[in-house]
Amino acid sequence: MERLSCDVLVIGAGPAGSTAARVASQEGARVLLVERKAQIGTPVQCAGYVAKAVRWYVDLPSECVSQAVERLRTHLPDGSVHEAEMPGYLLDRGAMDRFLAKQAVKSGAKLLVHTTAQQVVGNPVKEKAASVAVGAIHEAPLEVRPESLFWQNSGAKPRSEVAPKDGMSGFSSGLLGVGLAAGARIAAPPQKGAQGTEVVVLRAGQEVLVDARVIIGADGPRSTVARWMGKAPLPVASAVQYEAPLRRQTDTAEVYFRPEFRGGYGWFFPAGDVARVGAAFDGEYSEGIKGLGRLMGELLQKARISDSIISHTAGPVPVGGPGVVRWGNVLLVGDAAGLTHPVTGAGIVNAIISGEIAGRAAARAALDSDLSALDEYEEELRTVLTPALERASEKRSLLELAWDLPPAELSEAIRGSWIAFDEYYRR
Ligand SMILES: Cc1cc2nc3c(=O)[nH]c(=O)nc-3n(C[C@H](O)[C@H](O)[C@H](O)COP(=O)(O)OP(=O)(O)OC[C@H]3O[C@@H](n4cnc5c(N)ncnc54)[C@H](O)[C@@H]3O)c2cc1C
Repeated sequence: MERLSCDVLVIGAGPAGSTAARVASQEGARVLLVERKAQIGTPVQCAGYVAKAVRWYVDLPSECVSQAVERLRTHLPDGSVHEAEMPGYLLDRGAMDRFLAKQAVKSGAKLLVHTTAQQVVGNPVKEKAASVAVGAIHEAPLEVRPESLFWQNSGAKPRSEVAPKDGMSGFSSGLLGVGLAAGARIAAPPQKGAQGTEVVVLRAGQEVLVDARVIIGADGPRSTVARWMGKAPLPVASAVQYEAPLRRQTDTAEVYFRPEFRGGYGWFFPAGDVARVGAAFDGEYSEGIKGLGRLMGELLQKARISDSIISHTAGPVPVGGPGVVRWGNVLLVGDAAGLTHPVTGAGIVNAIISGEIAGRAAARAALDSDLSALDEYEEELRTVLTPALERASEKRSLLELAWDLPPAELSEAIRGSWIAFDEYYRR
């Protein structure tokens, strides 16, 4: 069996993994980034809506942006409509993922595509932690909370600058603190003299053994690495999206709260010549899909879109908050860590933020042979992401309680729980 060795193994080349790989390389670590897809960023499973604050974290070239939007129009179940200035971008997610991966490679990371992390091989670091990990995770109440969805995030700058409010210009989140406080934290066992962990990856049908001092699980909502840690699958919402030709250009994004999008909402996002029309929801998949069909029919009737489907995509979005993000010499980032916003389901910017923090901590731990440097990851996430995620989680709980109320009352609850309304930011 072929053998490879590195300081930091990053599994998954989405925004979280490529960012982690870039930063760890810049810090001087030997980084291996493995991605199971043959082509990075394809297929896209995302609507690509982010706050313009994404530029705080990554200097995106113009080819990564499909278009800018200036405001968000929210349609409520009682028929009322609300507009708020919320500058954002509709990203070309495929282009962005490829850009971020290239940045990682330019910084010195070695990238292997079409390479799937399959299993972790026993080692002292993992085994010592495992008995703590599994028990603690299974007892953690936050690990089993079904919830829902959707988009955008960010604003909290790693280390120094924490944005004043967790809206479009400033939101990111974390149930992290809550999860940890609930006893879900799994501390790393060894403090000094980190030993390598062996991971089997499958590359072009051949098994390759990778020895790494630190592993970063950036492998998305159905994380294999999280499974190695003994974590239960993350609670997720279902998100489905179609792209259709856009009939009239607009700089307004729209969301639709409707009973059939239980725990989530529908969306209409202009992205250059196309409209991304989608919905995310808990519960009955068929109801959500039917609701999305109705929404598309209405948009067609209003001549907002043309009658053809350019593409479609679907995927799970974690909605229950992160819980445990570290296990011995293993860190989870992005969706693998459950860092999406519990109300909006936005995860791109939090993936980048967590990747950046994790990459720095992982490089330090590996280069100094001191796993206690990984504590920085948990600590910094707690500062940067937790406040906004906690708020979102509380809002989400309120929204869930209101979901079966008549339209007027549900609309009132949405005004208090949706990021476009000032009420969202009042405790
Ligand atoms: C339909 C839909 C719409 C969305 N819209 C938005 C939006 O508008 N705005 C927003 O902010 N967020 C949105 N999200 C959420 C957003 O896509 C995620 O939060 C974001 O992609 C998380 O980035 P990540 O790097 O953590 O994970 P991912 O982007 O999922 O990347 C994980 C990578 O790991 C790879 N991988 C998985 N397993 C392995 C393995 N075993 N070995 C090697 N590689 C592996 C995968 O192939 C993938 O490339 C949406 C999600 C969906 C499903």
